[in-house]
Amino acid sequence: MGKREHILVPKPRSAFMLVRCSNCNAERVVYSHSSMSIRCRQCNALLVENTGGKAVIHAVEVNRFV
Ligand SMILES: [Zn+2]
Repeated sequence: MGKREHILVPKPRSAFMLVRCSNCNAERVVYSHSSMSIRCRQCNALLVENTGGKAVIHAVEVNRFV
């Protein structure tokens, strides 16, 4: 076995995503690395939670725009 090549796949670090609220099914475009928590406009459920670093998506991801 030869040496392992270190391949870095260029991944977009951030993206806009269309998410659907799992509570009321309202769709909303959010930023995946938002520095703020984002709540559903209709039912106020937490869609994106900022944890200080990476945002945690609580909603259902419908589409992603890179
Ligand atoms: Zn909602």
